[in-house]
Amino acid sequence: MEKTGIVYECIRCGAKVPSAELELRGGEIKCTVCGYRVLKKIKPPVVKRVQAK
Ligand SMILES: [Zn+2]
Repeated sequence: MEKTGIVYECIRCGAKVPSAELELRGGEIKCTVCGYRVLKKIKPPVVKRVQAK
C-alpha cells in the first residue's frame, strides 16, 4: 500500500497538506493551516530528469 506522494490542497487557503501529516493528526481530512475540511487531492509534481545541455 503506497501512501507516500499523496498531497491534498485546501480549497480555501490553498495550503498543501501531505497525507502523512493528516495521518499524524488522526487521519482526518482537514487543512492543517486553517482547519477547513474540504481538500482536493493533488499529485506532487513529477520531477522529470531531463538532460540539460
Ligand atoms: Zn486551509
